[in-house]
Amino acid sequence: MLVNSLGDEVNKRDASLKIIKSILQSDGRKGFYDLTGLAGGFPILAEDKALLETYAGPAVFEEAIQTLGKIHLGGEKILALNRTSSGILAAILALVNEGDEIVHFLPKSPAHPSIPRSAELVGASYREFEDITQFEVSDNTSLVFITGSTMDHEIITLKDFLRVIEISKSHEIPVFVDDASGARLRTVVYKQPRAMDMGADITITSTDKLMDGPRGGLMSGKADIMIKVKTKAHQFGLEAQPPLVAGMVRALENLSPERILEAFITKHDLYNGLVNDFKGIKETPTGVMLKSGELKLELDNRGIVTDYSHDDLAYLFAMLLLRNHGIITIPAVGMPGTSSTIRIDLASNDAERITIENIIDAFNETLEQLIKIIDDTKACKSVLYY
Ligand SMILES: *Cc1c(COP(=O)(O)O)cnc(C)c1O
Repeated sequence: MLVNSLGDEVNKRDASLKIIKSILQSDGRKGFYDLTGLAGGFPILAEDKALLETYAGPAVFEEAIQTLGKIHLGGEKILALNRTSSGILAAILALVNEGDEIVHFLPKSPAHPSIPRSAELVGASYREFEDITQFEVSDNTSLVFITGSTMDHEIITLKDFLRVIEISKSHEIPVFVDDASGARLRTVVYKQPRAMDMGADITITSTDKLMDGPRGGLMSGKADIMIKVKTKAHQFGLEAQPPLVAGMVRALENLSPERILEAFITKHDLYNGLVNDFKGIKETPTGVMLKSGELKLELDNRGIVTDYSHDDLAYLFAMLLLRNHGIITIPAVGMPGTSSTIRIDLASNDAERITIENIIDAFNETLEQLIKIIDDTKACKSVLYY
């Protein structure tokens, strides 16, 4: 095994950041392509900064986020948070007591870890369902989660969504929709209604997913619930501060459904160009993904024997993509514990600067390179670490 601990994952991430910095120094911003779909833009204007330096700034952006947030998510009251995870924690602190149960329906497990971790923190039990015929709540269920689009961009069907709402409502249990990427993917690509318009009580989206905002959580919900959640958020310092809110406001103004729709179409070309050499590659709504197990199968098919874990292989692949082609994917730069799936998101800003052919060549060359070094542990380590 090459990556054995969270510490190793941190070192790998540090190496990626150093590589990105050195690319920046030699070739400038054009030297790399962030295709994670998580670009974390901060599109504030010069006048916003001047405003933020006055007492009026926070009030202005607070009012703007209420208006723009409701346009994007529906609902009655908006709350901006440091992260989507912060919003999930705040809602669980506000709505769930020790001994209660949280039930979660999602198109495909696993859930984002913030949901089970927050459940554990308050001493609530937690059950997850991906099959609607199995879905149920119990007498002590106090909150139901729906994930609209998973971390790997698996999308819930409209039918399942409405069924979970129906079951939850019949037991008067509030429904929280984790729509981190779903608020855009579900609505723009799959033409589903907004979560609040389908009967959710509360929903949240990530302002850096399929939009060019800073990493943050934008929450909307019914007024009575939002007051409770807002109180908890402030008690524990989970709410977004004015500069972050300003970034979110401008990103919401810039929101571009066209780019998401274009990616939905061009991803077929990328998929078709890769599927011969990467049989396990899958389409996502706005790109393609290669799971670590599928990468292993690809090596097996070529008769390559290795003891490395599936995750190790994905990390090596992602680091080679970065080192040799300047392509940034999540396994290279993700926080410890993030998915090791190699995902290319064509709705990323940087996708405009790289051709589909370049990406296909980079994948093929990276696989060759990986095979070349796979028996040389020292070489592999120097790819992963600095
Ligand atoms: C990204 C994501 C989150 C967490 O967002 P953070 O900003 O990292 O806290 C939660 N749920 C889902 C489904 C996600 O995709």
